[in-house]
Amino acid sequence: MTRPRTVVIVGGGISGLATAFSLHEKASKAGLSIRCTILESDTSWGGKIVTHRIGEIVTEAGPDSFLSQKQAGLDLCMKLGLADQLINTNETGKKACVLYGGRLHDLPEGLLSFVPKQLGPFFRSGLLSWTGLARMGLEFAVPPGPSTGDESLAAFLCRRFGAQAYERVLEPLMAGIYAGNAEQMSLRATFPRFFELEQQHGSVVRGMMAAKKAASPVSTAQPRRTMFVSLKNGLGDLVTALTTRLTQQGVELRLGARVDALRVRSHELGRWIYDLILHDGSALSAEGLVLATPAYVSAELLRPLTPIAGGLLDMIPYASTATIAMAFPRTLTSAIEGFGFIVPRREQRHLIAATWTSLKWPHRAPTDQLLVRCYVGGVGREDILQLGDQMLTATVREELATVCGIRVEPSYTEVNRWWKAMPQYTLGHLDRLAQLDAAVSRYPGLVLAGAGYHGVGIPDCIRDGALAAERVVQDLIGGTSVARRSLASRAPG
Ligand SMILES: Cc1cc2nc3c(=O)[nH]c(=O)nc-3n(C[C@H](O)[C@H](O)[C@H](O)COP(=O)(O)OP(=O)(O)OC[C@H]3O[C@@H](n4cnc5c(N)ncnc54)[C@H](O)[C@@H]3O)c2cc1C
Repeated sequence: MTRPRTVVIVGGGISGLATAFSLHEKASKAGLSIRCTILESDTSWGGKIVTHRIGEIVTEAGPDSFLSQKQAGLDLCMKLGLADQLINTNETGKKACVLYGGRLHDLPEGLLSFVPKQLGPFFRSGLLSWTGLARMGLEFAVPPGPSTGDESLAAFLCRRFGAQAYERVLEPLMAGIYAGNAEQMSLRATFPRFFELEQQHGSVVRGMMAAKKAASPVSTAQPRRTMFVSLKNGLGDLVTALTTRLTQQGVELRLGARVDALRVRSHELGRWIYDLILHDGSALSAEGLVLATPAYVSAELLRPLTPIAGGLLDMIPYASTATIAMAFPRTLTSAIEGFGFIVPRREQRHLIAATWTSLKWPHRAPTDQLLVRCYVGGVGREDILQLGDQMLTATVREELATVCGIRVEPSYTEVNRWWKAMPQYTLGHLDRLAQLDAAVSRYPGLVLAGAGYHGVGIPDCIRDGALAAERVVQDLIGGTSVARRSLASRAPG
């Protein structure tokens, strides 16, 4: 072992915590001794992951689940001993709905990772007209788009599946994840797999079917996982397990430690020392530094070192959203079944989606109550966040009443506002990341990680943290033989 090298991680969301976890693993493997500190400005860990427990009610202010197909989330849970806490979505009544023409329609089954692979369920749902159905069914015959340049998610989906399928199903499903506007979103940055499938197979549907056929059979030794999984008592347990493990590993975890400025000084040839100035005026130095903060915060910190990086980071816009959790007496109307509903942008509602939380997940509310979570805001729809809590809740309740007849008073209400929370991967995002990488690569040991770059989902952030940790370790041991993975090449997994 060499002398301990100091690494500071700024930001204690899932990206920063996962970076620290991975740093320990990778440094041990490389025989590198690391002294790691995480600085978090807030008074609690986890960033956007916030679980509230109110009696028997469990609410998620931010994310409520993560994709099981992206292995990084499940893997981390396993390593932290959370395997027995992982839960699937409820097996019974697992349908979802989509609002169209003011009415709820069953979201057609047979969507393979968002892609419509069968026409029958669409036909039965009554969502698309005959011409809309026929156009969607012709996806396999649409020639692939150009292999270079960027295309908006909206243009791609309309081109391949037709305007109806896009507006009524695919837009709310896919743009909703980012609380974004599909016309501004980069296909290659948000859903790179679709671009690849189109290029490789000439058709997304054909590519998906081929991939499904080629996939190795699911091991019976592994528990079956639904598309989204969560933790029995909420995702906050992932944060608790991580901070507990990191403390055991000797990582210094500091809450209420906001970093206000960053300076750099030359140390030895080609090595740098990063000085962090905290809001209380104290300073901290590090040889390795991971900025796991939102891009706009990293922009301010990096600007004095590299104005180009600051400018590029400023070009990653963030959307504000809010979640409103409400518990109602469980008098279910026929509209309240399945997991909830999504709302296409063209419906011009405030709601992006509503989840029947206590039907989707077990153990989230007493059996005589229906726990509902409404999601509002997003690109171009942020005005509603200016309303006070009472007005905001009243507006959302009015839409719930119109759409699915819930008119009773909630016995519990909780409003969670998320200002500048959802990074938007707009057209040109990947090119900007390549330029950002070039600008930051002048500073070995300095790495950016987080939702702003390669995927907003929890597994994406965990994977990004692992790659950031690998890069720091390589920089600290001066590993020129190991290719430095660039920001631009760290494509979403
Ligand atoms: C409402 C909502 C619902 C979502 N739903 C899902 C979902 O169901 N599934 C899913 O996979 N993903 C979901 N996401 C996305 C996912 O939760 C986030 O992308 C992810 O948690 C972001 O993690 P992060 O660590 O990159 O950033 P953050 O969680 O934002 O962490 C960054 C941290 O940096 C800290 N910080 C900022 N400035 C400073 C400073 N100057 N000094 C020190 N610390 C600082 C912040 O306080 C914060 O804790 C959702 C997001 C939101 C907002």
